[in-house]
Amino acid sequence: MKITSVECYAGAYLFVRVNTDAGISGWGECGLAYGRCTEAAFGNCQDFAKAVIGMDPFDTEKIWNHLHRHTFWGMGGGVTLTAAMAAIDTACWDIKGKALGLPVYKLLGGKTNETLRCYASQLQNGWRKAAQSGGVAMLYTPEEYYEVTKEAISEGYDAVKVDPVFCPPEPVDFAVIGNTLGHHVRGSYPLKELEIAKERIAAVREAAGPYADILIETHSLIDTNTAIQLARTLEPFNIMYLEEPTCPENPELFKVIAQHTSIPLATGERSYSRWGFRQFFQDRSLSMIQPDLCNTGGITETKKICDMAEVYDMGVQIHVCGGPLATAAALQVEAVIPNFIIHEEHCANLKAEYRKYGTHCYCPENGVYTIPDLPGIGEEVPEETLAQCRKVVIA
Ligand code: MG
Repeated sequence: MKITSVECYAGAYLFVRVNTDAGISGWGECGLAYGRCTEAAFGNCQDFAKAVIGMDPFDTEKIWNHLHRHTFWGMGGGVTLTAAMAAIDTACWDIKGKALGLPVYKLLGGKTNETLRCYASQLQNGWRKAAQSGGVAMLYTPEEYYEVTKEAISEGYDAVKVDPVFCPPEPVDFAVIGNTLGHHVRGSYPLKELEIAKERIAAVREAAGPYADILIETHSLIDTNTAIQLARTLEPFNIMYLEEPTCPENPELFKVIAQHTSIPLATGERSYSRWGFRQFFQDRSLSMIQPDLCNTGGITETKKICDMAEVYDMGVQIHVCGGPLATAAALQVEAVIPNFIIHEEHCANLKAEYRKYGTHCYCPENGVYTIPDLPGIGEEVPEETLAQCRKVVIA
């Protein structure tokens, strides 16, 4: 089988359709539709598409290494490169599954998890309310945090993730805070702000009850010092994980934070490829990794990263904040890996826009996913949605 053309699409999400001479096509997402890397990633998808025309989509290892080593700049890494590799790699796995009539999880070794437990993610941005307001409804008061947690728990979730830092102490225009992707606290935590963060999480714990799991997200909005202050303040609430307590580019800082708190640490959505995770493994500073399949190099690379994590007794939650293709691909890998901990169900998945980009749009029931058995990744983008996207075809 040979790759004959690659269609690159930019809409609410970035994705590719890889076509073959066997008439089978595969879908893969490039996880950079939000943030500020969209155009570069769209361009990288086109660059890498040119490099795989004529290759056999069954040769995913060969294709990955070709893009990594033989495009010159690929070997230096960087998210627009590994995200474009992810889109092409995922599409090739989708093709393999469709050609063989098997879901991708079968090709990766079969399920070790029959179902996938989820947490309701990013409650500080609202839950159903976020979906109605187009993605983000900033929450400020402890009462709002209590109510949003009750809402998620009432839908069957027994785990939630909240960022108590993202929304500043006093209401602000989202256009102001959105531009910096949240409220930053660096240096020394103002004691009044620390108390507000504590009250927000106290409200989440009260609403969730004593046995639900709470993950604390901080989006790297704090630094080593303020992360330690926040972690120690929140320890009494029995926190499952503290995510991105500082910028992940210097993994040694996670070692310092881990030495000063009993809360297990997690990160990974802004680390790319095995090389990006290496120092975290070596330091054993994380308890759970969160690789973004659509940014870290695709199914081929994510499976390897997850397997490396298992050697260090680190669990896995794949970072999922993309379109329906990203969700579908994550489910296939999470089904297989024995160190799977929990799946991220992002509030962004509740938006009407999200549902336009999948023919299935899988979602959890009572906070639990069942794994699709369709061939490939089991998801595709409807033709009417494709017609609304920018499209570049490489042949
Ligand atoms: Mg995160």
